[in-house]
Amino acid sequence: MFADISFPISSYQVFTYKVPDELINRLSIGMRVKVPLGSRIIRGIIVDLKKSTNFSGSIKSIKEMIDDQPVLDKNLWELIKWLSKYYNCPIGVAAKAVLPNNLSTKYELKTQLYVKAINQDKLVLNHAKTQKSVYTYLQSIQSLIPVNSLKDHCSNPNDICKQLHSKGFVELVNQPVLPNLSGISFDPIHKDIQFTKDQSSALKNIFSAINSNMFQSFLLHGVTGSGKTEIYIEAARHVVSKNKTVIILLPEIALTPQIAGRFKAVFGESVALWHSKLSQSARAWTWKKICLGEYKVVIGARSSIFSPLKNLGLVIVDEEQEDSYKQDSPAPRYHARDVALIRGKINKATVLLASATPSLESYYNSTIKKIKYINLPERFSGAYPKVHIVDMINESKESNKYGEIFSRLLLEKMKDRLSNGQQIILLHNRRGFAPAIRCDDCGEIYLCNHCKVSLTYHRLGKFLQCHFCNQIKNKLPEICGECNSYNIRLSGTGTQKIEDLLSNEFPNASIARLDTDVAKSGENITKILQNFSNKKIDILLGTQMIAKGLDFANATLVGIINADTGLYLPDYRAGEKVFQLIYQSAGRAGRGDSPGEVVIQSYNPDNTVIKSAAQLNLKKYYDICLNERKSLDYPPFSWIVKFEVRGAKKDSVENSIKIISDGIKDMPKGIEKLGPSYCYREKLKDQYRMQIVFKSKKEFDPVGSRLHKFYNSLIINSKINASSNPRLIVDVNPTSLL
Ligand code: ADP
Ligand code: ZN
Ligand code: ZN
Repeated sequence: MFADISFPISSYQVFTYKVPDELINRLSIGMRVKVPLGSRIIRGIIVDLKKSTNFSGSIKSIKEMIDDQPVLDKNLWELIKWLSKYYNCPIGVAAKAVLPNNLSTKYELKTQLYVKAINQDKLVLNHAKTQKSVYTYLQSIQSLIPVNSLKDHCSNPNDICKQLHSKGFVELVNQPVLPNLSGISFDPIHKDIQFTKDQSSALKNIFSAINSNMFQSFLLHGVTGSGKTEIYIEAARHVVSKNKTVIILLPEIALTPQIAGRFKAVFGESVALWHSKLSQSARAWTWKKICLGEYKVVIGARSSIFSPLKNLGLVIVDEEQEDSYKQDSPAPRYHARDVALIRGKINKATVLLASATPSLESYYNSTIKKIKYINLPERFSGAYPKVHIVDMINESKESNKYGEIFSRLLLEKMKDRLSNGQQIILLHNRRGFAPAIRCDDCGEIYLCNHCKVSLTYHRLGKFLQCHFCNQIKNKLPEICGECNSYNIRLSGTGTQKIEDLLSNEFPNASIARLDTDVAKSGENITKILQNFSNKKIDILLGTQMIAKGLDFANATLVGIINADTGLYLPDYRAGEKVFQLIYQSAGRAGRGDSPGEVVIQSYNPDNTVIKSAAQLNLKKYYDICLNERKSLDYPPFSWIVKFEVRGAKKDSVENSIKIISDGIKDMPKGIEKLGPSYCYREKLKDQYRMQIVFKSKKEFDPVGSRLHKFYNSLIINSKINASSNPRLIVDVNPTSLL
């Protein structure tokens, strides 16, 4: 018996190995094994098993199995093959995304020594003082406790407990230690739900898809506060009652605690949470329990789409427009929403893409009936918020103050809410204190040594940080490197600065900031959100983390400090993203009984994006945007792929990309080439970056196969690849061209 094995390296080759006799009936396709390659023993995945081989060289044997049972069912294996083909990466690389190295069904919990007193009539420990005091303490507790928790009572609890044990005073047991899995959930949130007419009709459609046991996909387009979360829960309940399982993808860790709290009220312990803040042991343990079929529902980030749940019946992609669903690095550069649709197809499951602001692609697909459209056009309770735009240029003129962060209107509304005991959410999409350090005389901006981007000043901790390579500098420059001037100034505004200004302005208000700097731990995120929910916080200030998905009934004012952030980035999706951010943020206001208001501050109040977002007029903006995309042949009217060349030497990057570009002899009809050009951020982490973008009109290429064939031949003929220097990175359906 022979096995073909693929490795997580960039070569597309598979290698043949002999299956040793003792493993013959235990191996199956998709299992991970250890094998010798060159002088090393490495991990690989079995892609084929066969009785004979044509290979005539010497054949080595498989050393050992990594998984003790097949974790990949046939469907997940199909998915890996699709990933590998669609995203152009070797099967071994795709497999690694689905089956990360540090996860295995063989994972065992660490154990810890526990101790409990055995009741004795006579205390004969008179001469052993420490033993006696520990024993007396244990007697008072009367239950098993970890030995090392006795550190407060004695310096060497292990020895003391062993001595007590040898004398028959205590029992000692080794017990597995369960990792902490609860850090990122609210307590269960119970609710009494009576579905509205629209909600019931949405559910009827979804149930019938689930009952059909066929693949069906929906775009659930429900305005903010229309009860999408309640729809997820009811749909999941239906699936679970049929003994099937559910995956719910969330784009942002800050959305997890509240939704988890709601799901826990309904599904109890059969919900698993899968997110970036899990400790390694929690991750390994959760994964093993998913493999063993102990969970019915997995809620989590992008990679949850690969959860090895058996009998998958439903996948929900919440806020399906979010770019965090796209994996940037390493390969495969997959989009979890697209993978969800494929996994649904393979598993004959229902897939629900949901949002108040769908991606233009999904929106368009619903108009051409590629995906079924379900609309929830009304809020469950509360009316739409009233929206005000403040023209910040006028504001400076009228108030005679230049560069104020808060307009008079926003301040006035904030005061009003605070005096009425209502809460405020403020959005500002830049973290740190000041996003740039600038010389007032020559305009020079202080850049990261490794990236061509400005360093951000963080006031807490007093350091400069590059938000791309995370490198930290502890010293602020005193003198301009360009003109030797001492006029160096912090420039621009980040959330830390706004927090300072807020506490000056409202010394009696309780203010919390939520951005990635604060959200280092899951507990922190949960605590802040829970406190806001319990009205212990008056003003919640944050980045896009808090713009969507959250549901706080008493928050009646939303302020967007600078709505223009990102508006002029040279990317075809810049407008779409700004629109979604404003619309979603506005959606946090007035979700309870009291009406909500939104104040949007902008220096471009007449801009179509800002204006239509302020009118909450999605259709108007999406129609404008679709027309624009159509005239420029951007998605959803074309397929795109990005070839990026990265390397430490500028000229070899330029040369390599030129060779690829010059090597293209004829362009197939309908395919267009943009570039080569420098990327918008031309140097990151000491790597120069250049790109070519190919667009293929759907008119000639309905499923993208033409573009796929075209760029595949380019890859094959190219002298560079994913592991050469410089490297070639091929990004299929990139979400950004920056
Ligand atoms: P969305 O996710 O669409 O923004 P949510 O699911 O958060 O909206 O719903 C908004 C609020 O209304 C939540 O507090 C939710 O529990 C409540 N809600 C929605 N539908 C119902 C219903 N049918 N019965 C009771 N409460 C509901
Ligand atoms: Zn200068
Ligand atoms: Zn950097």
